[in-house]
Amino acid sequence: MKAILIFLLLALLQGCAVNPVTGREDFVLMSESDEIAMGRQSDLEVRKQYGVYESKHLQEYVNRVGQRLAANSHRPNLTYHFTVLDSPEVNAFALPGGYVYITRGILPYLGSEADLAAVLGHEIGHVTARHSVKQYTAATATQIGAELASIFVPEMNTQAGYSLINVSGNALLSGYGREHELEADKLGSEYLARTGYDPHAMIEVLSVLKNQEEFDKVLAREEHRQPRAYHGLFASHPDTDTRLQQVVNAASSLEASPHPVVGRRIYLQEIDGLTFGDSPAQGVVRNNEFLHAGLGIALNFPPDWVVKNTPKKLQAISPGADAAIELTLVEKYAGDPALYLLKRFSTQEATRIGASGLQGAMTQISPKAEAAAFVKDGNLFAITAVANSAQAFSGQRAEMEKAIYSFHSLSSAEKKLAQGLRISIRHAGPRDTFESLSKGSPFGKNATGYLRLLNEAYPNGEPRPGEEIKLVE
Ligand SMILES: [Zn+2]
Repeated sequence: MKAILIFLLLALLQGCAVNPVTGREDFVLMSESDEIAMGRQSDLEVRKQYGVYESKHLQEYVNRVGQRLAANSHRPNLTYHFTVLDSPEVNAFALPGGYVYITRGILPYLGSEADLAAVLGHEIGHVTARHSVKQYTAATATQIGAELASIFVPEMNTQAGYSLINVSGNALLSGYGREHELEADKLGSEYLARTGYDPHAMIEVLSVLKNQEEFDKVLAREEHRQPRAYHGLFASHPDTDTRLQQVVNAASSLEASPHPVVGRRIYLQEIDGLTFGDSPAQGVVRNNEFLHAGLGIALNFPPDWVVKNTPKKLQAISPGADAAIELTLVEKYAGDPALYLLKRFSTQEATRIGASGLQGAMTQISPKAEAAAFVKDGNLFAITAVANSAQAFSGQRAEMEKAIYSFHSLSSAEKKLAQGLRISIRHAGPRDTFESLSKGSPFGKNATGYLRLLNEAYPNGEPRPGEEIKLVE
């Protein structure tokens, strides 16, 4: 028995150890078929968690660009999948086995097909160098005893039985560390060159994303949210990063095309009309007011609270992180909101309340929590206000109840706001400046900076007359 066990362990360690990029043997615990199975399983989770952006045309375009690069990569025989996720975050990431994702939030900051190819090429580099597999191996190698025990349990005999997102989801989204990121940049540059793009697009795109990151740190503080940062960025600016310059220059001296493809025109056409910022389907947040066009409702959260709007829930956290307000939807509930509360929270009494013409009810759940419910158009909306102590609850009760009572049907002005924002491509006129173009913009005092960032003119460039530029409307 012991001999079989050791044999299996050795087979597991050696059967799959050649790195496709270096040709050398790696300490990797996974065969290619396990890698693909794991990617496929995690792909379902990613799609569920983020949602897929609804534009067949754009999905096909991104896939076409990605497939051309993948065919020129170190693992051309792998089946690749490229997906645009419906997320305002600025990011891209790859799962093992050839699953590559790019958010719609990163697309407005790219200026051409070559830029898009640079982001996808970097992610293909993570796949071909098997970075996420290595990350996974590092996380599981310490538990090798447990893994061995499970080898004899039939349904657990493949690593794909474990969720990759749970083990190394952090690395997927936040990057793999300096060395792996630089290797992905190097590989991506090579794939760009072999596909007919200028590998310097890698430096260009990282520079734009670095500027975006710096700018967004300031905005995020003002808007009380997490900054939107691309995972592959490091402390030094890409323009002056000597190691990055080295790997990109090496790629261009090897196989650069004399007439590299830029593809600005086609790229801008593809992203014309793209959703920018919050998705109207998930509801938008403007100055801490949540507006949902489809449900026809709005709610004002306290001004300095952090609002988190995910497909799963809508939540606002107090500045001291000691209290939260959460809005949840119970579909197709036309009954009495008071009865709902009594049953849901097992409380003895509920008070009827009215907010902006909507009938609702409220109940005290405990010394540190209360809940309200409103029925509108056959849906029930439950709002809970919770603190982590009775003291924190009473200190913030007035503010939380103000938010509860602010629940209302959308006004016609709010309906327009709730439609969300879109990218619009225009030709710059002879007198246009980014300052003049940003008049009436939804970004207020930060509008000029935003427009410059979106048009690769940050921090002080101006549009050239006749040039195609991106606006947000
Ligand atoms: Zn990366």
